[in-house]
Amino acid sequence: MKRTHTCVELNEKHIGDKATLQGWVDTIRDHGSMTFIDLRDKYGQTQLLFKKGSSLFEKVKDISREFVLEAEGTVKRRKPGTENKSLPTGDIELVVENMKILSKSEPLPIDLNEEDITGEDSRLKYRYLDLRRKKLQQNLMIRHKLMMAVRKHLDENGFMEVETPILSKSSPEGSREYLVPSRVHKGKFYALPQSPQIFKQMLMVGGFDKYFQIARCARDEDLRADRQPEFTQIDLEMSFPEVEDIYDVVEGVMKAALKVGNRDVKTPFMKIDYDEAMEKYGTDKPDLRFGMKFTDFSDVFKKSGFENFKGKTVKGLVIKENEISPLSKKDFDELENVAKTNRAKGLVIGKVVKNKIESKISKYLSDEEMKNVIEKSNAKDNDTLFMIGGGRESTLTALSQIRLKLGEKLGLMKGDSLLWVVNFPLFKFGEEEQKITSGHHPFTHVKNEHLDIVESDPLKAKAQAYDLVWNGVELGSGSIRIHEPELQEKVFRVLGYSKEEVQRKFGFMINAFKYGTPPHGGIGLGIDRIMMLLTDSKNIRDVIAFPKNNNGVSLMDDTPSEVDEKQLKELGIKVVK
Ligand code: ASP
Repeated sequence: MKRTHTCVELNEKHIGDKATLQGWVDTIRDHGSMTFIDLRDKYGQTQLLFKKGSSLFEKVKDISREFVLEAEGTVKRRKPGTENKSLPTGDIELVVENMKILSKSEPLPIDLNEEDITGEDSRLKYRYLDLRRKKLQQNLMIRHKLMMAVRKHLDENGFMEVETPILSKSSPEGSREYLVPSRVHKGKFYALPQSPQIFKQMLMVGGFDKYFQIARCARDEDLRADRQPEFTQIDLEMSFPEVEDIYDVVEGVMKAALKVGNRDVKTPFMKIDYDEAMEKYGTDKPDLRFGMKFTDFSDVFKKSGFENFKGKTVKGLVIKENEISPLSKKDFDELENVAKTNRAKGLVIGKVVKNKIESKISKYLSDEEMKNVIEKSNAKDNDTLFMIGGGRESTLTALSQIRLKLGEKLGLMKGDSLLWVVNFPLFKFGEEEQKITSGHHPFTHVKNEHLDIVESDPLKAKAQAYDLVWNGVELGSGSIRIHEPELQEKVFRVLGYSKEEVQRKFGFMINAFKYGTPPHGGIGLGIDRIMMLLTDSKNIRDVIAFPKNNNGVSLMDDTPSEVDEKQLKELGIKVVK
């Protein structure tokens, strides 16, 4: 390398030394008798000085931002009063004696100082330039450190990284899959892995005891702010575990992960029952950085004169008098909107005054109802009540969103809350498909005490499954798995698979379980989401080097794209437009 230092290294100690730097022109400042250039590289920036009279002075006029230069010169102290204390190189400058332009740059199509999301399409189109932004450089460095920390921690705890296939078999984890046609076996397809689930279980049958993988996964789902078509998981599995063993390992992983962002978290993490999470916070991923538990008022309004509440699920939460003051009329309007966009009929906001509730709907409520609500919720004079009534699901969803909005508006989302949600139902009734589906995935083991109701009363059965939730974001799910072939077949039956289908799709797995299978369990944790929380990023694309946009398109290389007729022919595929 010709460079003697990177752009962060030169400081007072080098005054008088010769040095050669290479990097990008960040800014140019022409001061008449001298020109300053801030030369930038991955590590930092250093001020270059070109003095009038030197042969280089004229040459500098041809230079623009983002040119790549090699500059050789002598390190000098900056003129007193012109130091920049915020930079490690801020006391010195390199007085340039020799300079080479290594590469020119056209004016950039995007502004590297711009963070604004509206310009995101152009930034994604020119991702290779966007990547020069400090924020992205930092985020990707943190991502690297995170993966190193996770690998180190798991290695030190006896886990071994094993790669599993990318061209794999379709597996029933609940998402649509990306399919890859086989050229050799026309009409047959590989699937990109939704996760390495089946393979890691096969590794347990294979005797590997403790497996992990930083695994790439792909799911063809509707995209959201925190979802990309492909993502990365910390995937792990172990043999002979009790759930507590898995919690221990994962808590260690998370402690190591948080340390990368200089954050700490207390272990063991709190545990909350799925049923309680739903009842008290309206969601299976509660943000417990703050309280605001729900109270159930359904009983109070069983025979109410207020139609919206009568016989419905009615839930509410209380904000104390001293906490509510930051909210304005505009905030209350916004909260009402949040309720409506979440399919609630409305949001009742009431103030407790002398055993009564003052609100728009007061005239529909009996004194008795008001008294009961106040008593049940333990509200005091001047406290504010937020109530929603309706179908159970929409009420819970809407009030949980109200709770989050209130938490945000009242500035309560501080610190970190990591917790386990446990005791999930084994199955749920899929409204869309109108049939029983898995709560987690079909390989999840039922709670031992519910073994006998798997088939007779499936929706009552609880699973040995757990989710890890960080500040209201689900980081991942895991479970103790089924390792008994008969039980696995039974679960497939409940899910409505025919014998033939089970044989065709999972025959090999059920067969594998017949040859001595250790009980096993594990989890998959989303690295992209961990990264978002670690870097306080609102946008998942800020933590991935080459992300897709909201339509699943990579604008830089224009993917997905059409392919040649010849390629399609080889695959035996005809595109129907
Ligand atoms: N395969 C699961 C998932 O991707 C994780 C697990 O159960 O280990 O959600």
